Amino acid sequence: MRAKSLPDSSAATSGAEFLFHELSGYLKPEDISQLQNAYLFSQSAHSGQFRKSGEPYISHPLAVASILGKLHMDTQTLTAALLHDVMEDTHVSKSEISNRFGTAVADLVDGVSKLDKIEFQTHADAQAENFRKMLLAMARDVRVILIKLADRLHNMRTLEAMRPEKRRRTARETMEIYAPIANRLGLNNIYQELQELSFLNLFPTRYRVLTKATKGVRGNRREVLKKILDAIRKCLYEAGLNTKVSGREKQLYSIYKKMVEKHLTFSEIFDIYGFRVVVKDIPSCYIALGALHSLYNPIPGKFKDYIAIAKANGYQSLHSTLLGPYGTPIELQIRTPEMHRIAEAGVASHWLYKSSDADLNDIHMRTHQWLQSLLETLSDSDDSLEFLEHLKVDLFPGEVYACTPQGKILTLPKDSTAVDFAYAVHTDIGNCCVAVKINGENASLRTKLMSGDRVEIVTAPHAEPNPAWLTYVVTSKARSHIRHFLKTMQFEESAEFGKRLLNQALLSFNIDPQTISEAQWEKLARESGAKSKKELLTDMGLGKHLPALVAKRLVTPGESVSRPSGGDDAIAILGTEGMAVQFAKCCHPIPGDPIFGFIKKNQGLVIHIHDCPLIAKNRRSKNNWLDVTWSQDITKLFEASIKMVVVNQRGVLARVATGIAEAGSNIDNISMESDGAHTTMHFTLQVSNRQHLAKLMRSLRHVNEVARITRVRG
Ligand code: MN
Repeated sequence: MRAKSLPDSSAATSGAEFLFHELSGYLKPEDISQLQNAYLFSQSAHSGQFRKSGEPYISHPLAVASILGKLHMDTQTLTAALLHDVMEDTHVSKSEISNRFGTAVADLVDGVSKLDKIEFQTHADAQAENFRKMLLAMARDVRVILIKLADRLHNMRTLEAMRPEKRRRTARETMEIYAPIANRLGLNNIYQELQELSFLNLFPTRYRVLTKATKGVRGNRREVLKKILDAIRKCLYEAGLNTKVSGREKQLYSIYKKMVEKHLTFSEIFDIYGFRVVVKDIPSCYIALGALHSLYNPIPGKFKDYIAIAKANGYQSLHSTLLGPYGTPIELQIRTPEMHRIAEAGVASHWLYKSSDADLNDIHMRTHQWLQSLLETLSDSDDSLEFLEHLKVDLFPGEVYACTPQGKILTLPKDSTAVDFAYAVHTDIGNCCVAVKINGENASLRTKLMSGDRVEIVTAPHAEPNPAWLTYVVTSKARSHIRHFLKTMQFEESAEFGKRLLNQALLSFNIDPQTISEAQWEKLARESGAKSKKELLTDMGLGKHLPALVAKRLVTPGESVSRPSGGDDAIAILGTEGMAVQFAKCCHPIPGDPIFGFIKKNQGLVIHIHDCPLIAKNRRSKNNWLDVTWSQDITKLFEASIKMVVVNQRGVLARVATGIAEAGSNIDNISMESDGAHTTMHFTLQVSNRQHLAKLMRSLRHVNEVARITRVRG
């Protein structure tokens, strides 16, 4: 995209002078001289490179630094902004930057360069992966993202030099990824400009039509606008308030979006007037609200108190819509100067106002917490598409506000359930929740919360998270904690089972498991690539190592392995081993059936009936077979599969189902095929053992319509 040719023109030099003049308004002289060094360094590195527009390349880093300068960013950030493309586009190394400008600057430049390498693709999965990397960079230092956003903003401003195809792709990526992130960080001005520029490049014709339409009606509006503005100012003055009132222009994209989403015409949206009132403190906000509500009637249901409950990105204001003269709706935003700063610059207001304000610390903390919770989800979710889905919930929140019985208000994303609420209160509350009362009434834990709900979570001391919660929770916090718990549980179960497998294997060598020393264990764990004895046991429980082999190495290290003779010492299966023991779906073994265990890589032990056809097929891999037997005290129910041919008659299914229920069994699954006179039914049933199944089949034979009934095994 860049061609080598003429030496740099003087346009960039004067751009630099202008930038340093601006920056000297808030930076110290020594900072300015570091920035001048960075500028000269970057200029010589980029010398001979040109942008698509024909300008010398250095004009781009200068513009990026200037965008960040308007946010009063610190010297490190501005230095990195001037250098942000040198690693990528010239042959300057990270260590060279580090030597000249310090490691902090080098890390920032490196972070931005890494983000630059991300090619956002249309393929959803790749995109999710890129999003993850972006967030990781952000979590390390939010300044990397601020530089990246400024970089993107300047590229969007100068997009017209690109081919139409490239313009559209960049614009879509900006709309889907960069703008929402700017919004989440509260960088309102950058957010809006990114949206407008994306809209322009994605839908140039629609953009032009809307621009023309707004110009056309603006003249008519001026008079009404002035009339309302005067009335508002007078009203607030009489209420004793010293205020700043301004009219707000609507963004084209927000007009467009409302037209599409709410099926409104252009004039229906454009005829809404927006005003912003800034007053000195919070009490004045409410006084102003009251005064204006008596000036024009408020439209019911439109009042929102974002002062009491801030938005997730830290935004605070009172919102209300009034019915003005000639029935024109008037949208009001009322806020204090501090709130206004955060509304404009979000996380950047920290640098912009250098204030130790509690509000600013608060939004930093919120941003930090948000990033932390994303990181937790990140490390826990294996599926990046799923991660993207959940991230979208976090980035585009239509928020719900619910409160605890003590009156503490929690902000949750739309569609949050009682379980999300429980985890939002505290991880322990989430892990132990068993029931919920919403507004004093019992409700299901999966109930979606509404704003204003009073939510009382009932916990029990030994309760545990339920895997089914994962199907309906929406917050990343709830998801990651449930996942984490399930992983730990699987680990415990598998370790326990691995230990039983190993003990049995050791007994077949006539070794007492107690006699194995910790040193032997440690050595073996190391050799097997496990971090600990417990991890080795878990691996065994999950079938990653063969117990016989491990036992052999514990007894006689280094020797080759032959399978020990087993027989009487078969391992007893309880059915409650969790993930470590599975029952084969082909033959559905139940207690009483003669069985064999097959150790399947990474899945643990799979139990088959001894004459299952699959067994015959895999006989050769002898080492993977294990003698197993049913334990004496099994209480669990097992799946059995039966096939039934019945004469087609009204109500026959109901009679069969009743028969099954009366025999003390549950139906897991039914499928049927019919050939006119007869129907073949396939049932998956829950039974405790062979006797139970035999009794059940006997009683079903007594149903008149049943012609034939057989158990299905393989
Ligand atoms: Mn750049």
